[in-house]
Amino acid sequence: MVVVLKKEASLQEITAVREFIESKDIKIHVSQGEYHTVFGLLGEVNEETKEQISSFPAVEHIVPIMKSYKLVSLDFRPEPTTIRINGHVIGNGSFTVIAGPCAVESREQILETAQCVKESGAHILRGGVFKPRTSPYSFQGLGLQGLHYLAEAKEKTGLPIITEILAPEEAVMVAPYVDILQIGARNMQNFALLKALGAMRKPVLLKRGMMATIEEFLLAAEYLLKAGNDQVILCERGIRNFEPSMRNTLDLSAVAFIKQLTHLPIIVDPSHATGKRELVAPLAKAALAVGADGVMIEIHKEPEKAKSDGPQSLHFPTFKKLMEELHRLYPALRPNNP
Ligand code: PEP
Ligand code: MN
Repeated sequence: MVVVLKKEASLQEITAVREFIESKDIKIHVSQGEYHTVFGLLGEVNEETKEQISSFPAVEHIVPIMKSYKLVSLDFRPEPTTIRINGHVIGNGSFTVIAGPCAVESREQILETAQCVKESGAHILRGGVFKPRTSPYSFQGLGLQGLHYLAEAKEKTGLPIITEILAPEEAVMVAPYVDILQIGARNMQNFALLKALGAMRKPVLLKRGMMATIEEFLLAAEYLLKAGNDQVILCERGIRNFEPSMRNTLDLSAVAFIKQLTHLPIIVDPSHATGKRELVAPLAKAALAVGADGVMIEIHKEPEKAKSDGPQSLHFPTFKKLMEELHRLYPALRPNNP
């Protein structure tokens, strides 16, 4: 249940509502919007208590949340969540481009790639150092050494960095170096990981599991918010179905739908969604058109020699061209945004 407070309510009046609710042993999640303060009530509220709450002068109205997820719901927080990273704002109409290699392969590779990302005008550098590979014989990532290379690329270019973590123990080790922690599709329902990252004060990019429904996806995000971390970015990266010609099927309708369900920003990963580099640019543009808050794109100087995901990685010139196209399209597709 959500208690929406009147815009003109005084701090004293708001405190009175808060103290009354807390006296009933009900937990409150406060959301301070531009226009309204909203109390999200976690747990059961009986009819009598509901009536008593609505009779406080500060209360505008009460909205029951019928959905299984609460904190991520747009009913709970009607204004979009924005995430500030190094002065760049993710969400609320901006279009964030995260780019980089699937995996950090060497110091030289990540430094060169970072330079390309910077020159292209993209905002955040990605690079996997702990790789979740289907086969245990495939390249597993450079681990901590890779993280140090990634951190050096950040230092040299000023670009914020994101990397995936596979286990809660890694999170504590990796968090001080990076700006965003990534939970990959395979770990979307790794509840220990969700709880661990929920307890941290670091933005999290949560990718949709390849078999996850929209509700399961949002409930995974709910774990992060419930544990106290509301700096969450969702990422649609394709789901599995009967169609074998692409790696996955990019669910752009989910992006448009999720925008109606949650205040959290959602970006699109056309690289893992398709597995084919020639489909990355069209789908990145489609992501912009459908209202996504950004894209995450894999790039490589020599994709033919990449240690992972070469076939879906863009060459540097193609990526730069895509960035120019996105820049040109942005004002036409988002006329109401700066
Ligand atoms: C990745 O982004 O590096 C990755 C492994 O993607 P996903 O978790 O979507 O498969
Ligand atoms: Mn990859």
